[in-house]
Order: sequence, then structure tokens, then C-alpha cells
Amino acid sequence: MPETPTFRRTRQREAIYNVLSEAERPLKFEELLERAREHYPRLGERTVFRNVREMLDDHTLVRVYLPGQPARYELPTGNHCPHFICRNCNNVFVLPEETPDILPEYRAKIPDNFVAEGEEVIIYGYCRECPKD
Ligand SMILES: [Zn+2]
Repeated sequence: MPETPTFRRTRQREAIYNVLSEAERPLKFEELLERAREHYPRLGERTVFRNVREMLDDHTLVRVYLPGQPARYELPTGNHCPHFICRNCNNVFVLPEETPDILPEYRAKIPDNFVAEGEEVIIYGYCRECPKD
């Protein structure tokens, strides 16, 4: 019996979802594609791209933009955890502990007429694969 388009699409989204839930860190698009193809070798780049876009639209996926970094993808957690950027391999990790909410306290120090809406904590260092000599 031939697969219906809906069934195929569900499987593709499932593959993307599974890759990200098994990933130890947020993935760049190329990494996501490569890992998804380990399970589904026939997945096309445009197909994955289209599915990622749909999953971003319905908030099944989150795109992470960090300064000077390519976009990465992760599953939404609802937690506000800091990102860790390795200075050697340039991989990005999500640290387990939530960031303290500094904005309410800091808001009074922001110049007049600036509207602060959020804050992002990034910690730089070396990941466990890249010990610092
Ligand atoms: Zn590293």
C-alpha cells in the first residue's frame, strides 16, 4: 500500500523530532540533516528544510540565534537555560540550570526610552571534548 503524503510528512517530522530529542546539544541545519539521514537515508534537503520551517511555525522546534553563530535548532523546553559556546569546537550546549531572572532588577539601570524585553546568558569556555591545555 502506498504511503499517503500525510503519513510521509508525519514520518519526516518524527525523524527531525527524534534527532533533536536524542541530540546532546542544539544542531545546525547540516547536522540535523546528516543525523536524520542516518535513520532515513532518502530524506531530501529541501524536504527537511520545509518540515523544519513548518515545525518552527507551529512551535514544535525553536531556532537559536547566538551572536556570531549560525542558526541552530532545538526542542522547546519552556525553561530559560543559558547556552554554552565552546571556544575550541564552536559547538553550542544548553546548560541544565535555569538562569536567574536578572531583568526585573536590572531594568531600573537601563537608560530612559529603552524598552528591555529579554535577556540571554551565554557562557564561553571549553566543552568536555575539548579540554583546555
Ligand atoms: Zn568543544
